[in-house]
Amino acid sequence: MARAGKTPDDDGPAPGSGARTGVLAAGPDPALDPAGRVDWLVEQVRHHDRAYYEQDAPEIPDADYDALLRELRALEAEHPDLVTPDSPTQTGVGGAPSTQFAPVEHTVPMMSLDNAMDADELRAWGERTARRLAELGIDGPVRYVCELKIDGLAMSIRFEDGRYVRAATRGNGKVGEDVTANVAGIDDVPDQLGPGAPQVLEVRGEIYLPIASFQRLRERTEAENAEAVAAGRKPKPLPVNPRNAGAGSLRQKDPTVTAGRGLAFWCYQLGEVVGTEAPPSHSGALEWLGGLGLPVNPNTQVVDDLEGVYEFCERWTAARHDLGYEIDGIVVKVDDLAVQQAMGATAKAPRWAIAYKLPPEERTTLLRDIQVSVGRTGRATPFAVLEPVFVGGSTVGMATLHNADQVALKDVRPGDTVTVRKAGDVIPEVVGPVLELRPEGLAAWEFPADCPSCGGPLERAEGEVQHRCNNEACPSRVLARICHFASRGAMDIDGLGEQQVALFLELGLLSDVAGIYSLDMDRIRELPGYGALSVSNLAAAIDASRSRPLANLLFGLNIVHLGPSGAEALTSALGGLDAIRSASVDDLAAVEGIGPVIAESVHSFFADPVQAELVDRLVAAGLHVDGPERSVLPQTLAGRAVVVTGTVPGFSRDDAERAIKARGGKSPGSVSKKTFAVVAGESPGASKLTKAQELGVPVLDAATSADLFESLLETGALP
Ligand code: NAD
Repeated sequence: MARAGKTPDDDGPAPGSGARTGVLAAGPDPALDPAGRVDWLVEQVRHHDRAYYEQDAPEIPDADYDALLRELRALEAEHPDLVTPDSPTQTGVGGAPSTQFAPVEHTVPMMSLDNAMDADELRAWGERTARRLAELGIDGPVRYVCELKIDGLAMSIRFEDGRYVRAATRGNGKVGEDVTANVAGIDDVPDQLGPGAPQVLEVRGEIYLPIASFQRLRERTEAENAEAVAAGRKPKPLPVNPRNAGAGSLRQKDPTVTAGRGLAFWCYQLGEVVGTEAPPSHSGALEWLGGLGLPVNPNTQVVDDLEGVYEFCERWTAARHDLGYEIDGIVVKVDDLAVQQAMGATAKAPRWAIAYKLPPEERTTLLRDIQVSVGRTGRATPFAVLEPVFVGGSTVGMATLHNADQVALKDVRPGDTVTVRKAGDVIPEVVGPVLELRPEGLAAWEFPADCPSCGGPLERAEGEVQHRCNNEACPSRVLARICHFASRGAMDIDGLGEQQVALFLELGLLSDVAGIYSLDMDRIRELPGYGALSVSNLAAAIDASRSRPLANLLFGLNIVHLGPSGAEALTSALGGLDAIRSASVDDLAAVEGIGPVIAESVHSFFADPVQAELVDRLVAAGLHVDGPERSVLPQTLAGRAVVVTGTVPGFSRDDAERAIKARGGKSPGSVSKKTFAVVAGESPGASKLTKAQELGVPVLDAATSADLFESLLETGALP
């Protein structure tokens, strides 16, 4: 099995290799001072254990913490004389239980898990397991249970005679914290188990914060911060990821706060059982627990051999973002409980299980600089220039910082070690600085006064968060405007990308979007890299763009605040270009989906003589300027949002969305409370289906036949 996107320094460098990045760049050099390095690493790991386990406020990402620990382990292996009995590599799991909650002694210890960072380490574990079983005289095939490793907080939950009586955190593995009142408010945890519950049933599982709850918490904190800043108070740090926000939400003094956070629970293990014979296998136990009313994750699979394990790991490495919660690995367990018993455990972890870690989505790296880019509408956006770091499956060298307020709020400064987060397709984010690594006297960053492209002033209007370059002729803006006009969502001109536009501008072949339609093809043919074929392809692509719908042209015109859906709303409500150009601010604002700010912006765009002249030239170039034909179909879905996911037989994605819109409906890209129905074709997106289920939105099965979809279009009614 190939490990997706692994790089050599993923796990931290080998001792003495010198290639140290992020948090590992600090501290003594292991080659010159191994003893000093070991002391430093021990101190670092202890410090981060306290921050993570006791304060729920980690300062660095897990992958960086793991790298510190791995380096410590490797150095200790190389220099056994440097190992001390209280080194974190020698002591128990987790952190000391806090004094905020009463202590609970675990009858069966709560252990950690050994990790496999890649397929080779997973294979090595499989081989160790086989050897150990042979030594124990156990032969025959080993079945494994593969489970998702939920990124949350381990919990022991105890039921007596079926009634919920206690919940405790893992703590140091032997003694945890009593969080009974807090866990009682979590909907997934039943007050009462179903029939057949034994006298004592203690289960293990993960309390986690679903992504939707995390986003709600983040939005709420952002809104509170905006109010706090406006009132001159200090903003609160934003929750960084669901794991930390979940742990913080759980360990609240006031259980009603916990109850309001939307935490959830998956049960994955038996603990103490009294009064009945537990099933002989782990998979049987999970089934039993599910039958008693406990939530068991459905994405669990029993496999017959390691090949099956690899296949499961590969599948979920690719699909991790299709879930409504975060996972950080796959847990593989030997299924037979008698075999588990025989294999036993080390001081920290059972030998019968392993956690295969997924590639990290947060890492630290050096913030080399903060620069500003100027976009098509003059918006000046600060962005981080980073020491490239491998995170979230790709190498990240830049990340947007949005605006001056965001930079100030995060307090990131060039020269800081910063945490970078990239989850799936989401754009990379600079989370914040690692303050303890900030060099002394590092100056705060200030927004530059001048545009880096044209040298003109960068201004921030009263009440706006964004700085702008107001020079229409600024080279950065001209380039970005033409690129936007030619981009896929607008006029979709193949062969006219940023490189070509920059070249044509430099050679004076082009100066604005209308110039695209009078490009001197004879001169272009003489340019290096251009031949007869590429020139005729470019000419054909430009020609084809003349017939794009009017909404694409409007969107391509770079009108401040006007997006593709606003452009579509204007054309469907007002018709052709002439009607839109001559509409008053009130006429524009009366269109559904167009607010006063957009209306004002559209109106002043067309009132500006320079823009009016540009639009005249585009009209003269023969572009399509008529409004869309009015639909004659019955408006069965008027005002209703129908989300399409997957492929509906007989319909392309565009066809399906067009059919909904032609009946007066909307077809947004995501599911919300307001969604009327989700049409699920073949290979639907799992996250959309999960969301629909969570929100109780009806799902129409259109995987093999379009019948239900067609009947919805015809009648507007659900079956
Ligand atoms: P672990 O998180 O690697 O694995 C053990 C845990 O996995 C269990 O306790 C359980 O909570 C969880 N788990 C999730 N799904 C499971 C399933 N299906 N079956 C069994 N267990 C499941 O090990 P750990 O000992 O809990 O702690 C180490 C973790 O904490 C590492 O990821 C480490 O990076 C992180 N950490 C981070 C910092 C920091 O500063 N960022 C500090 C300390 C620890």
